[in-house]
Amino acid sequence: MKNFEDKVVKVISKLTCDGCGEQATQDDYEFHEFISIDHKCGYGSIHGDGNQISIDLCQKCFADMCGDSLTVIEPNDEKHDSGSRIDVKDILSANKISNQE
Ligand SMILES: [Zn+2]
Repeated sequence: MKNFEDKVVKVISKLTCDGCGEQATQDDYEFHEFISIDHKCGYGSIHGDGNQISIDLCQKCFADMCGDSLTVIEPNDEKHDSGSRIDVKDILSANKISNQE
């Protein structure tokens, strides 16, 4: 037998891009494409030992900042070899994805 109790759980209701300020709620496709980084810095970190750094970026700002060094692996690629690497610049230019409107 299982006994249950009610608990209040906090969930993310809205994300705001730290780059461009775009906002998205869970009902938006964009919400699920945000990239969030939370990292606790260690000894030798340029950000300070023990400090916490975090950033939330929409996919366009993430691509603008990291696209040149990002590795994208397609879901049907079982080998994950280096030959399957897709240049994000090619994707962005092909789809004309841009943060500039
Ligand atoms: Zn953004």
